[in-house]
Amino acid sequence: MNLSQILRSKCNKDISTCTNEELYFVLLEIVQELGEQKVKKKQDKKKLYYISAEFLIGKLLSNNLINLGIYDEVKKILAENGKNLSEVEEVEPEPSLGNGGLGRLAACFLDSIATLGLPGDGIGLNYHLGLFKQVFKNNLQTEEINEWINNQSWLNKTDITYDIDFGDFSLKSRLYDIYVIGYNNVTNKLHLFDVETVDEGIVKEGIKFDKENVEKNLTLFLYPDDSDEKGHLLRIYQQYFMVSNGARFILDECISKGCNLHDLYDYAVIQINDTHPTMVIPELIRLLVEKGIEIDEAIEIVSKTCAYTNHTILAEALEKWPIAYLEKAVPQLVPIIKILDEKVREKYDDESFYIIDKNNNVHMAHIDIHYTFSVNGVASLHTDILKNNELHNFYEIYPEKFNNKTNGITFRRWLMHCNPELTELIERLIGDEFKLDAEKLQELTKYIDDKEVLQKLLDIKHDKKIELKKYLKKTQNIDIDENSIFDIQIKRLHEYKRQYMNALYVIYKYLQIKKGNTPTTPITIIFGAKAAPAYTIAKDIIHLILCLQQLIDNDEEVNKYLKVVMVENYNVTAAEKLIPACDISEQISLASKEASGTGNMKFMLNGALTLGTEDGANVEIHELVGDENIFIFGESSETVIEHYKNGDYDPLDFYIKDKNIKEVVDFIVSDEIMNIGCEENLIRLYKEILRKDWFMGLLDFKSYCNKKEEAFKEYENRESWAKKALINISKAGYFSSDRTIEEYNKDIWKLK
Ligand SMILES: *Cc1c(COP(=O)(O)O)cnc(C)c1O
Repeated sequence: MNLSQILRSKCNKDISTCTNEELYFVLLEIVQELGEQKVKKKQDKKKLYYISAEFLIGKLLSNNLINLGIYDEVKKILAENGKNLSEVEEVEPEPSLGNGGLGRLAACFLDSIATLGLPGDGIGLNYHLGLFKQVFKNNLQTEEINEWINNQSWLNKTDITYDIDFGDFSLKSRLYDIYVIGYNNVTNKLHLFDVETVDEGIVKEGIKFDKENVEKNLTLFLYPDDSDEKGHLLRIYQQYFMVSNGARFILDECISKGCNLHDLYDYAVIQINDTHPTMVIPELIRLLVEKGIEIDEAIEIVSKTCAYTNHTILAEALEKWPIAYLEKAVPQLVPIIKILDEKVREKYDDESFYIIDKNNNVHMAHIDIHYTFSVNGVASLHTDILKNNELHNFYEIYPEKFNNKTNGITFRRWLMHCNPELTELIERLIGDEFKLDAEKLQELTKYIDDKEVLQKLLDIKHDKKIELKKYLKKTQNIDIDENSIFDIQIKRLHEYKRQYMNALYVIYKYLQIKKGNTPTTPITIIFGAKAAPAYTIAKDIIHLILCLQQLIDNDEEVNKYLKVVMVENYNVTAAEKLIPACDISEQISLASKEASGTGNMKFMLNGALTLGTEDGANVEIHELVGDENIFIFGESSETVIEHYKNGDYDPLDFYIKDKNIKEVVDFIVSDEIMNIGCEENLIRLYKEILRKDWFMGLLDFKSYCNKKEEAFKEYENRESWAKKALINISKAGYFSSDRTIEEYNKDIWKLK
């Protein structure tokens, strides 16, 4: 049967009479069957297990159709029957299994691993409600539940279950698998563990729920609020549940392939994505000892099997758990953790190496660094900062463990799927080899003086802007002008990412326009960001942006030239609309604080120019495209690190010295804004910026404004702008996650 016949027979009626929903479920079933056929019958000896608290996979239908090579055919069959594939896609809920960049990275990696034909699966949790849905009310973020699991979904129920023991109870788990279909290659799996007793009914008003009812709440939410002890404990229960299931599953698979456990590392390599899965180390040791292996050997086996990826240098983000909590939730791990700590103490007489500190907190990252064979950072600057600053003393004792793996993104989703128009242009110019060998994009540079190609690039950007305009009209009833400059900052809300600095620029521009300094081309500044529900200042920043949006919308003098949009519930689906439409990509974190960023890579690939600091992978983007094709500003990471060391940064200095800064900061608590917003939130934010400004927004504000004005001015020369965009696209090949995965495999995993 050909595809058209299969579709018809599964529909059981004429395609033209099916609803989009019926078509979605039929296509889901077809993709599942085709995906299953590509699962390898004979398992490879050694396999990678990528264990992560998050997998921000996005909608799967289109990507799976692309990777199976049947996207165009399906689209055509539907069109012949008066149906539109993108409308069918809209039926699919976005899986809510991740939060931000770390989870999206895990998803890109799974795609690349399968595309390269490598044996590698993901291991995580099947959150029923995942991350909250963000809803704006009275210019404030509120949180609602985000249901995504239908009766028929990408989840395949398996008959694998385990009994997982906690301090005073045990829970039965069940494994669900999602197929990870590689591009023209094999199907791997994402293994998601769940509890059988989970109950969505315990969630009341917004996202409140009984944190102590672990039996019912364990796999409801990703990152439940941990601002109190109950929340802390719940995170430990979740993490242990993930790693204990993962560890048992890995051991079972390896044993079934002939592993005798003494040679575990010949059968498995476990990549620990940040510290959330760290307990897999003591849990594996515990299980090996239970199976009769001596503790010292068990420790050695596990250390040779596990590798660790560090994603942050923010001290507050490095997990440490009070040992008392571990005693309560997972007492069986505590003796193992104590032995791991003892071994460190025997060797090193330096507290900074200890696993259990003098306050009886367990430092998860220290377990990872001592008891894995590889520690990697995620961009070259980040790895250098780990080696030279944050983890310098560890680097001195384990120089051979440290290595860099600059992040990447899958071009199947972030080019072929989200920007088929650009993909088609590239294919027409240089053929289709770039789809499997992204470095081939460099061939585009030969069109740098081809006026027709440059114009086509601008035309595609314009069309994608119109698409975004329609999307925002439909989802939020917001009107934007496709002829304005689209300046976009989309990422999780965090002070170090400095959305507030961008908001201060909005105020600056607003005041300038009021004074008669109007821009040549109107400007649309778009934000999208969720704030963690307990992160007060982050929510205040969202509040300020929403107030500015309202103020400017209602100001006839200004709204002709400037518009601010805060996209509600920013997620992968929204990103796929926003990124292809962007002119200026805002990557303005305080230098040294953004480990890598991957949003920056998606924008570059879609022909946006970066306005950014020398931070994370921006540094590598800058090196690749050269000074002419990027807008770099701000203090260097060295200077910033010095300021922290000396404790000599005071935002008041800048506020007092620079009257522009004073005017802009004071505007936060002006009558204009206070009449729209809430006094409490605005005053708190104002004070935070004036008294603390921990991420030094005022330090870089002036150079940020100047650089942004320069970018807007350069935008006026359309041909020169198009050339810069072309260079960005042509140099983006380095940021394919296929390249990243090849490096992980060559240096760390050593599969096949
Ligand atoms: C890529 C991506 C991120 C990461 O963005 P950064 O700018 O690198 O922080 C976060 N959320 C979504 C939905 C993404 O697609």
